[in-house]
Amino acid sequence: MTLHRYGGAGIKEGIGMRDWLYRFMQGRYGMDQMGKFTSIASMVLVILSIALSRWYTAGMILNTAGFAGIVYSWFRMLSRNYAKRAEENRAYQNYASKVRRFFGRQKYMMNERKTNHIYSCPGCGQKIRIPRGKGKIEIRCPKCGTAFVRKS
Ligand SMILES: [Zn+2]
Repeated sequence: MTLHRYGGAGIKEGIGMRDWLYRFMQGRYGMDQMGKFTSIASMVLVILSIALSRWYTAGMILNTAGFAGIVYSWFRMLSRNYAKRAEENRAYQNYASKVRRFFGRQKYMMNERKTNHIYSCPGCGQKIRIPRGKGKIEIRCPKCGTAFVRKS
């Protein structure tokens, strides 16, 4: 790198790597949540492709997808189209929160199944939630009043 800046008093001031990088990144979009995700996911794909290299086709597909992902992440980081990238990031975050909510619900239901049992009323089909581990109990349907005995 031959970039040099000269101070007023003739002091030679080399432009360090950080300074150069700062100038290079000026006006460019840089990193966001989507960028973090695509970068990490791409690296995981590349690592997986190495681990799976003895299955040639699978390895090649993962490898190609991984490198494509890395190129795409860099394209977004170096992009000057701020509005477009920000829009993509909003769409990504919207989707990511849906995925998180989905897994949150799955976890909640799993805990529910561990601590509760769902019985259907033999009279009307109403679903009744009973805590587990109470032994043999009589359940009275809150909807139609049918009583039935179940092990909880
Ligand atoms: Zn009922």
